[in-house]
Amino acid sequence: MTELRLPEMGLVLLIGVSGSGKSHFAARHFRPSQVVSSDHCRLVVADDENDQSATGDAFDLLHHIVATRLRRGLLTVVDATNVQPKAREALLRIAKDHDVLSVGIVLDVPEALAKARNALRPERRLPDHVIPRQRRELRRGMRGIGREFKRHYVLDGEAEIDAATIVYEKAW
Ligand code: ATP
Ligand code: MG
Repeated sequence: MTELRLPEMGLVLLIGVSGSGKSHFAARHFRPSQVVSSDHCRLVVADDENDQSATGDAFDLLHHIVATRLRRGLLTVVDATNVQPKAREALLRIAKDHDVLSVGIVLDVPEALAKARNALRPERRLPDHVIPRQRRELRRGMRGIGREFKRHYVLDGEAEIDAATIVYEKAW
């Protein structure tokens, strides 16, 4: 069983391809108000959480919410794929600017599982190439991920993801 040690105040990035279970994990372990999701931000700015043309505006909003919460001293969890180092970099810079710790939690599931789960989601229709591309981006960035975060965890497969527990620590 993996014990995820998180700071009581800081930034947590969930990292994983579409269908890896980020939103499911976030709902299980965090309060709704602690979770900032790219889908929700897309919905807010475009009335449609699948509208890819709204990505820029959605992430501007997401970054704004993250920065505001961190400034106010609130633990903040980002529910977005975060598979590209560049996407993580922007968020980690916000954490650094607010002098707070960042933790990465990688949800690593087999491609077949992510695809099978998404096939059951009427609200998530992705072109076939998207999950393989996200997996490649994730793989490529994994070597350097230790340098990005003060602490990071890789949960490998559904059983390990489901068994993970969270412990909050005051001092790091
Ligand atoms: P996206 O990036 O597209 O938002 P996601 O990583 O947030 O994807 P989820 O929506 O959390 O993925 O999960 C996809 C589907 O798989 C959901 O229908 C969810 O109920 C199911 N699922 C996720 N995690 C688990 C799990 N640990 N056990 C069983 N079902 C799961
Ligand atoms: Mg999701």
